[in-house]
Amino acid sequence: MRYTIALPALGVFCLLAACSREPAPETPERVTATAAPDVEWRQHGLDDAETRHSPLAQIDTENVAELGLAWYFDYPTARGKEATPLVIDGTIYTTGSWSHVFAHDARSGELKWFYNPEVPRDWAVHLCCDVVNRGVAHRDGHLFFGTLDGRLVSLNAADGSLRWEVQTTDTSKPYSITGAPRIIDDKVIIGNGGAELGVRGYVSAYDVDDGSLRWRFYTVPGDPEQGFESPALERAAETWGGGPWWEIGGGGTVWDSMAYDPALNLLYIGVGNGAPWNRQLRSPDGGDNLYLSSIVALNPDDGSYAWHYQTTPGDSWDYTATQHMILADLVIDGEERPVIMQAPKNGFFYVLDRRNGEFLAAEPYATVTWASHVDPETGRPVVTEGARYEDKPTGLQLPGPIGGHNWHPMSYHPEHGLVYIPRQDVGWVYATDEEFEHRPGYWNTGTDSRPAALPDDPATKAAVLGTVRGTIVAWDPVAMAPRWEVEHAGPWNGGMLSTGGNLLFQGNAEGELVAYRADSGEALWSFDAQTGIVAPPVTYRLDGEQYVAVVAGWGGSLPLVGGEALTAGAIANRSRLLVFKLGGDAALPPAEPRELVIDPPPQTASAETVSEGKKLYLQYCVFCHGDGAVSGGVTPDLRTLTPEKHAQFQAIVRGGLHWERGMVGFSDQLGENDVEAIRAYLVDRAHYTLASAAEDAAE
Ligand code: CA
Repeated sequence: MRYTIALPALGVFCLLAACSREPAPETPERVTATAAPDVEWRQHGLDDAETRHSPLAQIDTENVAELGLAWYFDYPTARGKEATPLVIDGTIYTTGSWSHVFAHDARSGELKWFYNPEVPRDWAVHLCCDVVNRGVAHRDGHLFFGTLDGRLVSLNAADGSLRWEVQTTDTSKPYSITGAPRIIDDKVIIGNGGAELGVRGYVSAYDVDDGSLRWRFYTVPGDPEQGFESPALERAAETWGGGPWWEIGGGGTVWDSMAYDPALNLLYIGVGNGAPWNRQLRSPDGGDNLYLSSIVALNPDDGSYAWHYQTTPGDSWDYTATQHMILADLVIDGEERPVIMQAPKNGFFYVLDRRNGEFLAAEPYATVTWASHVDPETGRPVVTEGARYEDKPTGLQLPGPIGGHNWHPMSYHPEHGLVYIPRQDVGWVYATDEEFEHRPGYWNTGTDSRPAALPDDPATKAAVLGTVRGTIVAWDPVAMAPRWEVEHAGPWNGGMLSTGGNLLFQGNAEGELVAYRADSGEALWSFDAQTGIVAPPVTYRLDGEQYVAVVAGWGGSLPLVGGEALTAGAIANRSRLLVFKLGGDAALPPAEPRELVIDPPPQTASAETVSEGKKLYLQYCVFCHGDGAVSGGVTPDLRTLTPEKHAQFQAIVRGGLHWERGMVGFSDQLGENDVEAIRAYLVDRAHYTLASAAEDAAE
C-alpha cells in the first residue's frame, strides 16, 4: 500500500534555498589556471577504510575564524537527520527524513531535483529510532539508497529518475532500512534494522545494473529443523540454546557500519543485538549466540564467511557491534599491523588484525560497569556479578542500550594517530519482563523498562542525571588510552570530521557546529545552527575553494526516548543542509523559541489507573514520546495536550487520526480503557511538571 504525501512543490524548495543566498561572484580570479584540483566526498566514509579524514587544508587553524555560511537549504520535514552528504561531480546528494533524496549544486545550493519514495507513514510504528536515513551510495552516474520500508532504490544521479527498485525484506515483518548502502565492484551491499521489534538479521548484495540479488548472508541461525544456509550458520547454531529464538527472529541486524579492504578483498559488517534483548528469553540455555554483536568479515564476491570477532558474547543489553569501523595500519609492538578499529555500544574500544580477526587489544573508552575488563588472553569480557539480570534487576548499569557510542561516525587522523569518538554515558536499569509475550511488529525486548524510567524523587533523579555525560574522546589506538577529552553539555552529539588543516568538526546537541584543533581539542570556531546536530560533517573542494557541509536537524533514538536525560536536548528540530566556506556571509533567519504550554485538566483518575497508564506508556509510547512524557524536541510533548487533544485522544491513539505524521492507531493492541489510563498518566506528568516547577521557583 502506498500513500501520496502532501509536500511543498519543488519550486518552493528552490525559493527556500535561495532565500538568503548571495550569487557567487563570477570574477575571473575565482577560477585560475593554478586552482587546486577538485576533491569530492564520493563515498559514505570518504574512503573504503571509512576514515572520514580529509587531507584538505585550505581551511585551517589560522583562518577558521573566517568560516561563514555559504548557503543553506530548509528540508520539508522536522524529523531526525542523520545523513552523510555525498559530493559527486559538483552535485551534493543528501537524504532527509522518510527516505527522501535531494540533489543540489554543491557550489550554489540550487536544488536540482528531489525524490520521494513515498514510504507509507504508518510504517513508523515498526521503527525503533526515528524516520532517519544515513545517505546514498554512488557508482557511474547512479545512486543507491534504502527506504524505511525495506526497499533498495537506484536513481539516475543526473535527474533523479528511477532506474529500479527491489524489496529487500519480508514486509510482513518489522524490517527497516536507515543505513547507507556500500558499493563493491558491481554489487551494492545493503543491510537492515528491526531487532528491537523482532527480526532475523542479514546483509545482501544486489547487482548495480538491474537490482537482482547476488548473495545474502544471514547473521544468526534460523529454525535448525529447516537446515542452515551455510556452514558458518551451522557452527553458529551450536552457540544458541533452548529456542525458539527463530520465532521472534534472533536479531543480529546489520543496520549501519561496513568497511572494505580491497587488497584483502574482505567486506567487514557490524552486527547488532539479539531479539529479544534478554538472552534468558531468547536462548534460555545460554551461549554466545553467534554472530550477534560481532564484527564479521565476508568475501564480497559471494558473501561467504571469512572470520568473526564477537565483542559481546551472549548479548543481553542491546550492545550492538554496528558502530562505525575504521581500517588503518598501526605500528604495534614494533610491527606494522593492518587493523580494524571499533568503539561498539558496550564501552570498549577494540583493535583487531583485519586479516584474520585476531584480538589485539580492548580498553574502555566510556564508563563501563557491566564488565570489569576484556581478558587479554581470550579477548572475552569478564561480566560483573548481576549484570545479566537473571535473578533481579541491575542497578544503574553503564553503558545503557543507547551505547557508550552509537551510530555517529568517528574519524581517524593518521598524522596525529587519533580516533575521535563521540562518546556518551547514559545508564539503564535492566530487568526481565516477567510477563513477556511476543507482540509481532511491536517492541519485543523482553525487558521491563519501568525500573529504568527516571524516578520522581528529586535526590535519586539528580543522582541518575549526574551520571549522564557526552564528550569527544581523542583516542590513541596504539597506547589504547585517551589523549584528551572535550566535555559537552550532554549526550547524543554529532559525528566527526577531521581535516589536513589540523581541524576537527562536530555538531552537537546544543545546536552548534564547532571546529576544534585536531591535535588538542581547543575550540576555535562555532556556528549557531538553531537545532541539534547529530549527522557528521563532510568537506570538499571545488574550483579551488574548500567547503564544509553538514545536515542539521535534531532526532534519532535518544531524542525520542530520552526525556530529561537529555539536558541539552530540549531543542527544536529545524532541519537544514548547511554549507560553509571562508568568507561565507549568508545568515539564517531568526529562530522562534520553543515554548511549552502545560495546562492540564484536573486529575480525575485513581492512582491505580495512573500506574496502569504508566506501564502501558512504557510499553507503547515511550520510544517516540520520551521518558516521563518529556519530549526531546522531535515529537509532540504530551504534557502540553490541549483540551481539544484530550477530547480527540481516543481517536488519535486508537483511531490513528494523525497517521500522516507517523502516529498510527493502536486499536489492535489497546482498548478504550487502556488509552484512558495512558491519558491519565499524561495528566499526572503534566501536574508533576507544574508542581516541580513551583517547588524550584520557591527555592
Ligand atoms: Ca538495538
